[in-house]
Amino acid sequence: MGNVLDYLLHLPALALWFIFLAENGLITILVLLSGKLFYKGSYSYTSREWVICGLTNILNTVVTYAGFLMWKHDIISIATDVSWIIILDFLFLFFAMDLLMFIFHYIIHKTFLFKDVHQLHHQSINPTPIDLFVLHPVEALGFGGLWLILLMLYAFNIYAVMVYLIVNVIFGLAGHLGMEPLPEKVRGLPLVKYLGTSTFHHHHHQDIHYNFGFYTSIWDRILSTYKK
Ligand SMILES: [Zn+2]
Ligand SMILES: [Zn+2]
Repeated sequence: MGNVLDYLLHLPALALWFIFLAENGLITILVLLSGKLFYKGSYSYTSREWVICGLTNILNTVVTYAGFLMWKHDIISIATDVSWIIILDFLFLFFAMDLLMFIFHYIIHKTFLFKDVHQLHHQSINPTPIDLFVLHPVEALGFGGLWLILLMLYAFNIYAVMVYLIVNVIFGLAGHLGMEPLPEKVRGLPLVKYLGTSTFHHHHHQDIHYNFGFYTSIWDRILSTYKK
């Protein structure tokens, strides 16, 4: 993996922009295709949704490129060794981002930012997968900024970062599936019941006063904003 990172260092900026845009575009295509596979009914996306989704992809590419530049200039450090630290790093990234995004999400709901920024995402009462990318630019850059700030704290392991990014997309897709793939029994299992399921985020779109969390319901349970 260290070789791949070193290879990126020697590529011209234009090639990097192209690679990062293709990577973000591929993630979007996989999310939209997976969503169609899970959902039994039919739905289509409006041209407005496609435009906003495209813009979010460009902004996510800007965040990716900014992260690359920060790494290149040693503002962000990345470890590439394979060790048990990968598990600890992943758990830290998972719970730290869960808390940071909860705080960010709660603030944009409780201030003027809801009307000016976050309402765009909430125009969808019954979300579908494209809503994961129907975000106001401030929101897309806000989540990306939180991620880059967290990466500045410590030299996280590259494999933990990659697993975290995959898990992040899976939770984002789950929250906007428009249906619940997990049987109720599974959702009630110890530990699983604290995770942010499709139903959990779907309820947030139906009633904006509850379920501000993303990966877990821990912070909503503590603040009494949890809706089963
Ligand atoms: Zn919200
Ligand atoms: Zn949502």
